[in-house]
Amino acid sequence: MSSNFETLKSLPSLKDSISHYGLDARKALGQHFLLDPGLCSRIAGLGGNLTGRHIIEIGPGPGGLTRALLLSEARTIHAVEIDQRAWPLLDDLSSHFPDRLTIVKQDALTLDASSLTDAPRQIIANLPYNVATPLLIGWLRQAEKWERLVLMFQKEVAERICAEPGSNAYGRLSVLCQWCAECSIALILPPGAFSPPPKVSSAVACLTPYSHQPPAALFKAMEQVTAAAFGQRRKMLRASLKSIGGETLLRSVDIDPTRRAETLTVDEFARLAVYHLEQTKRAS
Ligand code: SAM
Repeated sequence: MSSNFETLKSLPSLKDSISHYGLDARKALGQHFLLDPGLCSRIAGLGGNLTGRHIIEIGPGPGGLTRALLLSEARTIHAVEIDQRAWPLLDDLSSHFPDRLTIVKQDALTLDASSLTDAPRQIIANLPYNVATPLLIGWLRQAEKWERLVLMFQKEVAERICAEPGSNAYGRLSVLCQWCAECSIALILPPGAFSPPPKVSSAVACLTPYSHQPPAALFKAMEQVTAAAFGQRRKMLRASLKSIGGETLLRSVDIDPTRRAETLTVDEFARLAVYHLEQTKRAS
């Protein structure tokens, strides 16, 4: 730990590294960098005790959060970065920590992140906002692989993840996340915490997956049910769920067909998903 600290202290500052490697932030890649080491270490700390943990960081960019993770007790860090311009900077950082830091030069959207490393695994990342939701849904499909996900989103997305039934923010993402994991918002950051500042505030959501996870077919059924229900959220469920069984499906699991999607609890959605899967199996 102290030698990690000494090594990092001997490196150029984050700002100097950014200017040395000409890493000006690009909007198209959702680049809003965290330059405050104190803030980066607070985010890394949300993973809890990282002793022996294998961390995957998506989008290390100039490496502020990566440095904080290197200062933690994490056993290894795999940092997945799509921007070729950042690779020399990250290779340089990795050369100081050859046994702990691996730079993965790939698009996170097309990568099976869990295959990078052994368990116990966590993902800790300041996500590129333009692809944050599809990334999260991909990780939820294999939620059993993760000990914890510590993820920076636009605040509005973090609120949707944690929203309660009956609220405006409650939707498909809330149901999928809360079905698989205990979810909370751990930190809210104003635009000025980033360089350059985004237009909106940001928030770190922590998702701790439950020990029992739905099998893949059931997760898919839940995706179908929630897509149909929230695709037409103002309609009564008997209408929005018509294509997958409508009133019959709802009555079979004791849900009033005149209710609207936003009033259903996660457990009620789970009942619908189980029944929908059974129906699909029977029909095939
Ligand atoms: N972690 C850095 C920080 O906190 O300062 C940068 C965070 S910035 C919000 C998002 C990072 O994700 C950028 O470095 C960007 O190049 C990278 N990125 C964008 N799309 C990506 C993708 N599909 N796969 C991997 N990295 C991506």
